[in-house]
Amino acid sequence: MRICVIGAGPSGLAQLRAFQSAKMKGEEIPEIVCYEKQADWGGLWRYDWRTGVDEYGNPCHGSMYRYLWSNGPKEGLEFADYSFDEHFGKPIASYPPRAVLFDYIEGRVKAAGVRDWIQFSTVVRDVSFDDSTGLFTVVARNCETDTETRETFDHVIVATGHFSVPNVPYYPGFESFNGRVLHAHDFRDAREFEGKDILILGTSYSAEDIGSQCWKYGAKSITVAHRTAPMGFDWPENWQEVPALVKVEGKTAFFKDGTSKEVDAIILCTGYKHHFPFLPDDLRLKTANRLAASDLYKGVVWVKNPKLFYLGMQDQWFTFNMFDAQAWWVRDCIMGKIALPDAAAMEADWKQRQADEDAVADDYGAIVYQGDYVKELIAETDYPSFNVDGANEAFFQWKKHKKKGIMTFRNHGYVSPLTGTMAPPHHTPWKDALDDSLESYLTAPEPVPGE
Ligand SMILES: Cc1cc2nc3c(=O)[nH]c(=O)nc-3n(C[C@H](O)[C@H](O)[C@H](O)COP(=O)(O)OP(=O)(O)OC[C@H]3O[C@@H](n4cnc5c(N)ncnc54)[C@H](O)[C@@H]3O)c2cc1C
Repeated sequence: MRICVIGAGPSGLAQLRAFQSAKMKGEEIPEIVCYEKQADWGGLWRYDWRTGVDEYGNPCHGSMYRYLWSNGPKEGLEFADYSFDEHFGKPIASYPPRAVLFDYIEGRVKAAGVRDWIQFSTVVRDVSFDDSTGLFTVVARNCETDTETRETFDHVIVATGHFSVPNVPYYPGFESFNGRVLHAHDFRDAREFEGKDILILGTSYSAEDIGSQCWKYGAKSITVAHRTAPMGFDWPENWQEVPALVKVEGKTAFFKDGTSKEVDAIILCTGYKHHFPFLPDDLRLKTANRLAASDLYKGVVWVKNPKLFYLGMQDQWFTFNMFDAQAWWVRDCIMGKIALPDAAAMEADWKQRQADEDAVADDYGAIVYQGDYVKELIAETDYPSFNVDGANEAFFQWKKHKKKGIMTFRNHGYVSPLTGTMAPPHHTPWKDALDDSLESYLTAPEPVPGE
């Protein structure tokens, strides 16, 4: 049996680790081939300074920026088989910068020894399924050697993420705006906006975090336009929330309530698309960004052809440990330990999940909903069980701390759902910590004499 995993971000790596852990237990595992478009693993956590196209002319995958710190507590994403304490050899604070999380992700897969299973700089161009043979054909291009391969597989697992292809709205006047208009996907360095008046469209995590970054690194003012409701945090004095943008003239932005503001740059924090240009219609997931994705049994099996799987396609409170729970479950399904029900039951499953999601009252309910999903999957495999309620609790605390202080919530620490360790406070408050390197995060600065 041959398995194709597309993507070596946290989801694809979870799949490799799941198979490797079965191998370590003496089980016979299928041949695994993982294609990764970038030159290294880690998905979005591999920082890419480029925007637009990568070194091979492919659309750039990266959406992360310099100075990005985890926007949720690390206790909510901790791998159940590899704690932060184990990786760093000591407890660390709860909101690590990107480089620290990349190091953690990499540490586990380095230890697992799965790098050889991955073909880097190799982009999947086409996937098709042959009903007569029951096999997939995957066409991939190694961009380094500029050669194409065409191989057959029994199963394909799509782990290409869904925060990379931007959703870009148009507003009248954009084409003649006398400043810069960019999507969050192309935002890289907040220092570019030092001393500038910026307008952000949207109320997503990106809006909140990119605005906070720009504030931290010296933007003159931040204006956030919302279409439905404001985010409503207790923002700093040079930050305002306004109703939806209507049009732009020159450098002036006009809003729905009749007010206007002169701005230097407009950052579109308007979300991402699930985008799979390598899949034909009958295999392609089309879903809103929600907790229960459409057409996926147990959130992972493509109901229209259950030999195809998707990982990490849900909207996310839980991330790394949820991808693990999914990957272990998919592995056991492929290895025949978990049986699939008939098509009607699989169809009923995702519809019921969506109905249950629609009945969730608020964010706290949504966290519990996704935590229950993680519990459900891990109960059916040998993925190490962990204190999911403890992770939920870290999320609840995080939400409360954000409400109390949007620029101070990252100064708090939480209890690990694995080790029970309480995270120490970071040595420097987030707003004053301008260096986001791993070294700086893990080492307290030398005291300045006389201070
Ligand atoms: C700005 C930003 C901030 C975030 N912050 C956090 C955070 O603080 N905490 C958190 O838990 N989560 C955060 N996330 C969520 C993030 O989605 C997950 O943490 C995680 O990266 C998802 O992993 P993934 O493997 O599913 O997808 P990705 O990380 O997107 O990885 C997908 C991989 O697939 C590869 N790929 C894509 N297409 C192809 C192809 N055709 N052929 C071969 N390879 C391909 C890509 O190169 C990439 O390596 C953030 C996301 C963004 C955009």
